[in-house]
Amino acid sequence: MTTVGFIGLGHMGGPMARNLRAAGHEVRAFDLAPGARDAARAAGITVVGSAAEAATGAQVVLTMLPAGHDVIAVYRGTGATPGALAAASPGTLFVDSSTIAVAEAHEAHALAVAAGHRFLDAPVSGGVVGAERGTLAFMVGGEADDVARATPLLEAMGSRVVHCGGPGLGQAAKVCNNMILGVTKIAVAEAFVLGERLGLSHQTLFDVASNATAQCWALTANCPVPGPVPTSPANRDYEPGFAGALMAKDLGLAEQAIDLVGVEARMGRLAREMYRQYAEGEGAHRDFSGIIRTIRDAGTQEGKR
Ligand code: NAD
Repeated sequence: MTTVGFIGLGHMGGPMARNLRAAGHEVRAFDLAPGARDAARAAGITVVGSAAEAATGAQVVLTMLPAGHDVIAVYRGTGATPGALAAASPGTLFVDSSTIAVAEAHEAHALAVAAGHRFLDAPVSGGVVGAERGTLAFMVGGEADDVARATPLLEAMGSRVVHCGGPGLGQAAKVCNNMILGVTKIAVAEAFVLGERLGLSHQTLFDVASNATAQCWALTANCPVPGPVPTSPANRDYEPGFAGALMAKDLGLAEQAIDLVGVEARMGRLAREMYRQYAEGEGAHRDFSGIIRTIRDAGTQEGKR
């Protein structure tokens, strides 16, 4: 049994903390939002009064927070609020599962090490359903012995743990994966709109493309039109799933990484811009596959025959 300080009990962190508790670990949790604290308490989790209190006496401190600046604020403390790093016993393992920028993961790692602790970046894929079912995939950056130490905990919340390399490389794997997903989603959506205008049925295009070289998750699992894949959000008026706003966030982090290392990634940048616009409208709350409606609406009526 491990004593885990868990900070951030939202859509993802709430069920992750519950799964840790169900696996027999002692969880001492904190969230700024009273509703999140109440839900955790109702699930039998010990809720404490601050992030620093959650870190006190913990062997591992896990964060699942909205953004990089939240992680840094929790680690350092703000104003009169003490930080988790100063409250933790020397050698505590800090694991951040939030999706944050690669540069922010390096900063969090440096802060943790300077305070005498260990650090892993361990972002996830699998969404809220994966968090609830305990089937998340963890992409982990850090030292191998720390990964070994964290693995039993990560396996209580997920079904796959991939050690991607040194510090920051978990977040690197996450942004690269999601950049592929954002770009392929747009490509699939554009092809369906083109097929519609050329007179091709959705089912016919799906049957051809899903058995040919265009086969990909954005087509076969998250098909952007209703019909061919009954479980895809398109059949539920694009109820998420994975909201357009989260894809816009992740592509923003991909763009920061592109700028950091100076890569020519035109498709990634264009996908970032298209999802930024989508997230300002209905994509704030609709599944990211709903971007097909924006693409359809932007077309001309006549075209050039
Ligand atoms: P969320 O907004 O539902 O939860 C975040 C929680 O953190 C909130 O309850 C908030 O009150 C709390 N919080 C914020 N600042 C805090 C602080 N200083 N101290 C304590 N608590 C604080 O977000 P989420 O959907 O659970 O996502 C969490 C992270 O996981 C994000 O980085 C997100 O990008 C990533 N992620 C989300 C999904 C998804 O499908 N929701 C999938 C993969 C990764």
